[in-house]
Amino acid sequence: MAKIEGGCLCGAVRYSSDDDPLNQTICHCKHCQKQAGSAFSLVVAVFRFGLDVQGELATYEDVGDSGQAVLRKFCAKCGSPVISDLVSVPDVVFIKAGTLDDTSWLKPDAHIWAEHRQEWVNVAEELQSFPRNPSIG
Ligand SMILES: [Zn+2]
Ligand SMILES: [Zn+2]
Repeated sequence: MAKIEGGCLCGAVRYSSDDDPLNQTICHCKHCQKQAGSAFSLVVAVFRFGLDVQGELATYEDVGDSGQAVLRKFCAKCGSPVISDLVSVPDVVFIKAGTLDDTSWLKPDAHIWAEHRQEWVNVAEELQSFPRNPSIG
């Protein structure tokens, strides 16, 4: 069962929500690759006002390819990326799925920014794949 509960690597930041996740997206954009230090990031969208966050998040103000600000929030102590907050999407925030305590229920819905996908990453045929981000220009 989907449970939004997790935190950063060191445990200084914890979050939880009783809401169900809205969607789960694999983002292949270059910014996610850089920030995650990995091939992509899997993000889970949740309602902003249902999300309770404890601990200190630092913010890097990034700019998405849409030209709008993307606030990349990470633990001030251990550096784990925890939340992406897109100014263009006011009601929702995106949790970096690797920070969830229980990841067993994750089942991604779609790929975005597939034009930046690393060659070796296989895309499951049944998932929708978008060359860019269909919802954010
Ligand atoms: Zn931490
Ligand atoms: Zn991205």
